[in-house]
Amino acid sequence: MRIDVITLFPEFMAQSASLGVVGRAAERGLLDLHGWNPRDYAEGNYRRVDDRPFGGGPGMVMLIEPLRACLAAAKAADPTPAPVIYLSPQGKPLTQAKVRELAALPRMILLCGRYEGVDERFLAAEVTEEISIGDYVLSGGELGAAVIVDAVTRLQEGALNDAESAAQDSFEGPQGLLDCPHYSQPAQHEWGDVPDVLRSGNHAAIARWRRQQSLLRTWLRRPDLLDESQLSKADRKLLAE
Ligand code: SAM
Repeated sequence: MRIDVITLFPEFMAQSASLGVVGRAAERGLLDLHGWNPRDYAEGNYRRVDDRPFGGGPGMVMLIEPLRACLAAAKAADPTPAPVIYLSPQGKPLTQAKVRELAALPRMILLCGRYEGVDERFLAAEVTEEISIGDYVLSGGELGAAVIVDAVTRLQEGALNDAESAAQDSFEGPQGLLDCPHYSQPAQHEWGDVPDVLRSGNHAAIARWRRQQSLLRTWLRRPDLLDESQLSKADRKLLAE
């Protein structure tokens, strides 16, 4: 998958995408990440990318023209069509379902705002959709872009080793439940022992325990995710035990 990121800090994106699962996926050719800096497309000695807002008030606004030239260059670098996604606190909240949708695309372009944001006319003319990573305000869209890059990359086939399989993760599966608790060595510890069932070697009992834990955790921590009418009879029984 190709991801182009329009940002005043391309080095931030390069660094955050060089580590762990994402870095390994890039090495394997599963992620092709490109940074584009609007400052490289700004005119004049100062290469200005922002100016004061009409109507007064605090902060600066990202200018149309450097962004327009930068986006045109990013689009021209590859013929594959790509949605232009603006990271914005005003966008639709990012969910795992949206991540899955984006992960299936061959390419996308992420636009990171700074200051008070981007001139509204650029957004209206060029942006396909706006995505928020949560109800709080960041100084820039780069962290949001890094979140999307990570979440979609780990869903690319071959990005995860078997041990890290995404299928067991929270929000995955038909009911989108939370993941069950995990334990490793030592089996006995001053902070508690690993549940016996996980050491029993009884695969059916382990699967049942994990399913029950997922159901319980979702019910306790994120009841908004649990649509009990969608649960099977067996799941409803597990939850009631
Ligand atoms: N004035 C804007 C508003 O209140 O909607 C906030 C601007 S914010 C200081 C600067 C940039 O950070 C935004 O243009 C956006 O790209 C990014 N940003 C801030 N919060 C975000 C969030 N929750 N999700 C995604 N991007 C965010």
